[in-house]
Amino acid sequence: MKIILLGPPGAGKGTQAKLITEKYSIPHISTGDIFRKNISEKTPLGIEAKRYMDNGQLVPDEVTIGIVNDRLSMNDCENGFLLDGFPRTVKQAEALDSFLNSNEQKIDTALLIDVPKEFILERMTGRRVCSACGASYHIKFNTPKVENKCDVCGGLLVQRKDDTEETVKERLDVYDRQTQPLIQYYKEKNILAKVDGTEEIGMVFEKICDVLGAVAK
Ligand code: ADP
Ligand code: ADP
Ligand code: ZN
Repeated sequence: MKIILLGPPGAGKGTQAKLITEKYSIPHISTGDIFRKNISEKTPLGIEAKRYMDNGQLVPDEVTIGIVNDRLSMNDCENGFLLDGFPRTVKQAEALDSFLNSNEQKIDTALLIDVPKEFILERMTGRRVCSACGASYHIKFNTPKVENKCDVCGGLLVQRKDDTEETVKERLDVYDRQTQPLIQYYKEKNILAKVDGTEEIGMVFEKICDVLGAVAK
């Protein structure tokens, strides 16, 4: 199964991605996680990406597209993958289509996790992420078993530098201008599916499984 997750920052893409990729045994490809790993390792890519990420801006398309093409060329993507946070612009979506086309592949479903703006700020400012494995928690909606420790790997939970109120507002503007048009893009290709992302995590996951079950048939 080849899946794209769409939705505003804070919609729950990362949280659902972990659950989906575990269930379907496919790789979870998060461009945000790839950039953050490069930042922590201080690679040239990380140094470049950080300039944009800290301000809530998108990393340039040329850079991002190259990274995703490289990742999708790896053997573990042959039987499917889940893209989380990519594509984020029409140009990225077109590049993805042409990459998959040239390998005689296509996306099965673009799944929109629909969450209105009113919910976003509280989700983002309360988000805590594992510094080791990237898992997402929330101080109110999804607390770890042991305070500040990741349930999965025991890593330390930290707040992302771009999860401040000011940067979140900028990221939402960027979403409206650059990413929102993808909803129409995938609607026209008849592969858009939508789930209500305002319900609790387990319920959202159930609905996603229903959608994916129907796609797989
Ligand atoms: P995204 O990857 O779309 O930015 P995350 O999965 O990191 O979103 O979720 C953003 C924040 O909201 C995290 O703190 C997460 O624990 C929390 N969260 C995710 N899904 C829900 C939900 N259905 N209800 C309440 N909080 C949620
Ligand atoms: P969120 O959890 O809010 O959806 P991500 O972890 O997906 O955030 O992305 C964090 C930041 O990484 C973005 O604000 C952007 O700067 C950069 N980024 C991630 N994916 C992309 C992409 N596909 N194109 C450009 N920039 C990206
Ligand atoms: Zn962890």
